[in-house]
Amino acid sequence: MKLLDGKTLSQTIESQVAQSVKRLKQETGRVPGLAVILVGNDEASQAYVGMKKRACDRVGFYSVTHEMPSSISQEAIEQTIVMMNENPNIDGILIQLPLPSHIDTTRLLELVAPSKDVDGFHPFNVGRLSTALDGFVPCTPLGIMELLTKYNIDLCGKECVVVGASNIVGKPLAALLLNAEATVTITHIQTQDLASHTKNADILLVGVGVIGLISEDMVKDGAVVVDIGINRNSEGKLVGDVCFESVSPKCSYITPVPGGVGPMTIAMLLKNTLKAAQIHAQEAK
Ligand code: NAD
Repeated sequence: MKLLDGKTLSQTIESQVAQSVKRLKQETGRVPGLAVILVGNDEASQAYVGMKKRACDRVGFYSVTHEMPSSISQEAIEQTIVMMNENPNIDGILIQLPLPSHIDTTRLLELVAPSKDVDGFHPFNVGRLSTALDGFVPCTPLGIMELLTKYNIDLCGKECVVVGASNIVGKPLAALLLNAEATVTITHIQTQDLASHTKNADILLVGVGVIGLISEDMVKDGAVVVDIGINRNSEGKLVGDVCFESVSPKCSYITPVPGGVGPMTIAMLLKNTLKAAQIHAQEAK
């Protein structure tokens, strides 16, 4: 069994991004800019935004966080997004999810300019992904694809089973795997007999948010297992959705939690923001 080491790969990507930022600055005088919208005081959201901000600082991006109370109105968030859409110093806009229940999240995501949609959640970019056209791809699935590529894990013709079908993880991941010519099964909470699907997987990718959902009897010998889940157990430790102890001896490759998919997600946010900045710089010429 080998670990798919997202921590090390993300550090390599960060230094490549930092180099590109220097070059962009020398050639155009511009630095990539990321605006983050953070609503309320959810601890996990604050921690994620903090990690993203520190990563931006490390690679030399300009970044700004718009912190808003959970009582904020839909209108006020919309005004901020419109301002960021028009601000030439901002290349990427990220709305940290989830938002309070009185906020219409879909409406906000649709308001972000597709050229600044570094999270890849706007229907324009979702459509481009599902038709295999270039665009912005959600960071977590994109990071998983980079990790699989780095370890030369061939996807063409392989049985890939995705557990979890959210708009931010499972669905875009399935689209990327399909674009890579894998045979893709998507499973979710209503799936009958989950194990009958997971046992067929050459590559099993799990993003659900349920500790220990995948046990050793649900995994084929020699499978590649990608654990996307981030959960805190009763001892306060970060764990995934896969029982690492019992599943890992059966795998050819497996991601650790933490240190697998998580750091790749942040690295992809940096890559997407750099890509947006490069496109904007080109357009400004
Ligand atoms: P979500 O709640 O939006 O979606 C969960 C999905 O899992 C749904 O499609 C649901 O149908 C499915 N599901 C729930 N219970 C199931 C079960 N018992 N069997 C099969 N399917 C089931 O969650 P999300 O935002 O997609 O996040 C999923 C997990 O991934 C969470 O643990 C989250 O913290 C983690 N996550 C990690 C990263 C990262 O960078 N590593 C990024 C995003 C999300």
